[in-house]
Amino acid sequence: MIIKLFESKIKYLIVGLFLGIFITTLLPKLFIKSTWEKNKQQINLANIKNEYNFIEYSQWPPFLTDPTFDLTLWRKHCWINQISLPTQDIKSYYKKNYTAYNVCKDVISLINSIYNMKTNIAKVEYPETFAQKIRKIFNYDKTLYAKALEQELYFVMNKYTFEHTVYNPLRGRRPIQSPEVPIEQYLNETIEKTSQNCDLCNYQNMTAIDSLGRMENRYAYSAANAFKFDQWHSMFMPKQHDITKLTFEELKDIFTLAWKWFQTVHKQSSSHRFPTLLWDSLPHGGASQVHPHIHATLHSDHYYGQFESIRFASERYYREYINISKHGKKNFFRTIQDIHMAFNLTISFNGITVLIPITSRKEYDIIVLAENFDERFIKVIYQIIQGYFNKLKQFSFSSCLYLPPLSPNQDDSGLTPVYYRIIPRGQISSLLSEISSLDLLSIHNVNKLPADLFAEIITWFQEI
Ligand SMILES: [Zn+2]
Ligand SMILES: [Zn+2]
Repeated sequence: MIIKLFESKIKYLIVGLFLGIFITTLLPKLFIKSTWEKNKQQINLANIKNEYNFIEYSQWPPFLTDPTFDLTLWRKHCWINQISLPTQDIKSYYKKNYTAYNVCKDVISLINSIYNMKTNIAKVEYPETFAQKIRKIFNYDKTLYAKALEQELYFVMNKYTFEHTVYNPLRGRRPIQSPEVPIEQYLNETIEKTSQNCDLCNYQNMTAIDSLGRMENRYAYSAANAFKFDQWHSMFMPKQHDITKLTFEELKDIFTLAWKWFQTVHKQSSSHRFPTLLWDSLPHGGASQVHPHIHATLHSDHYYGQFESIRFASERYYREYINISKHGKKNFFRTIQDIHMAFNLTISFNGITVLIPITSRKEYDIIVLAENFDERFIKVIYQIIQGYFNKLKQFSFSSCLYLPPLSPNQDDSGLTPVYYRIIPRGQISSLLSEISSLDLLSIHNVNKLPADLFAEIITWFQEI
């Protein structure tokens, strides 16, 4: 009996011992090994996916400038032409019975496929003395004052590019402070003063040239940038100094030279395929020289990050909707154009579309999408700049022109349209910067609704 008990104790001891060894040493190893294997597999997968994502663009359906839906039907059955943006309160934006029509459903699904929109009300209370000041600012208009107490904020986010804008139309109603020095005076003085000793006016002696030599035509010339920001980087200038007197012929000559330069560089180095033109106007717009000058670069592998992120958004959009038969012909840029057409925020010039983006970065932010880079396109750009100068008295701006990738072997995957964007850069003589942590680090804040901005810019254009 005692022996039996002793034997079973030994049995338990031995079993316990082995169990202990197993739990403390082998089990964790097994466990770690399996998670490690799993992680390794995931990392491999992620790598494969990343490489695939970055390098391989698909062949998207081409960008065309006509809408993919019936605009007349849309206006007849679906859309109430009003200035606010569609919000949760769909009923005040779309016509009664809109759900009965396919065109309404189709276009609304296009809108929702890219944009996320919402309205919030921000409530404010003012102590009496401050309230008097506010009433005075709004010229004792009772409706406006009521709006100041309950401010409408419109948020729009592009779900693919994450461009994000908040509109507060009330902020746009605040009185504008007139600049410290009158605009015209500042402009005349600055242009006059800088023209006396301008390297770019005296370009034969005072500008650098790159390995391709100097390019020149009637009104424009090229020069190498003395301090480059890319391997292939050149500048294109009109021969005269005053940006306010820039003629269409000069702008055309500048773009023509730049286009020639892109072709020549690409012939020398076929991996350089991504043409970019950057144009800042006047010191307040970030230009280092008052003499008008456009930077041209040809990058390899991909566009600069800000545009590549849009191009890649376009690829993701294409992949997500590849199997949905009816959907917007799956070209991201065309869908964006469709949506802006539906909201009546576009001007069409057969092959060229001017639009006020619903994710604007500033008031009068304008995007131009085009099928081709040609003289008509340059005319549209010229009219926009004239609108900035003559209608807005806006002389400083930043703008970019991304041309479709150059490809020797007809490789048209990831083919972006001709893409131009121009953004005002504040009053030229103001000490105040128009850019803040909002623009640089968080969300764009615009104080006029897109429809109001559109109503202004539509008057700038003549038929081309
Ligand atoms: Zn000059
Ligand atoms: Zn510059």
